[in-house]
Amino acid sequence: MVIRLVLFGAPGAGKGTQAVLLEKHFGALHISTGDLFRKAMKEKAALGDQVRSYMDAGYLVPDEIVMNLVHQELVDVIKDNGFIFDGFPRTVPQAEAFSQILAKMNQSLTAVISLEVEQGLLVRRISGRRVCPKCAALYHVDTLINKEICPIDHSTLEQRKDDAEDAVETRLKTFALQTLPLKEYYQEKNLLLQIDGSGSPDAVFARILSRLQPVFN
Ligand SMILES: [Zn+2]
Repeated sequence: MVIRLVLFGAPGAGKGTQAVLLEKHFGALHISTGDLFRKAMKEKAALGDQVRSYMDAGYLVPDEIVMNLVHQELVDVIKDNGFIFDGFPRTVPQAEAFSQILAKMNQSLTAVISLEVEQGLLVRRISGRRVCPKCAALYHVDTLINKEICPIDHSTLEQRKDDAEDAVETRLKTFALQTLPLKEYYQEKNLLLQIDGSGSPDAVFARILSRLQPVFN
């Protein structure tokens, strides 16, 4: 069974964890646009330089370049294997171009999975993250007895600026606004599976598998 998935999830929705579980279960390749950008900067001189110039300036990499990288990856690496795209497509034009590329390769998406987690829980998950400035260990305040001290080296833990509560709320709003048109696009194509992303990673994964089951039959 070759599976071809797109995975959506807000920051803190557990997308990374589910991507790893899906990758193992289906033997599919997990690909994020971040990985493609890093690979391009390492390998393909001209395209990589373009990617770098946009990222260094803090701009989004334009659709045309993203689509080039995705196309190359599909042809050179993914071929007839399954995949899980994460962080792509980001816009409806990207989604349209993606489906054209797949059609040319006689492929189509199996499903688009959207991990749905209510905002309050996302804010708690992210704003509770702490990092140790000395050993770089990551923690969540809920799992620490002393919420301010690294249990390994007793350094005072820090919170990333991005993870502060008001920053998180802005990130979540931006994500919801960006993703809505894409969710509508895939809903119309009958590909969207909205999965409750609350609870343990195993519980969420079981929900995903049971929703994918009818798609296989
Ligand atoms: Zn530490």
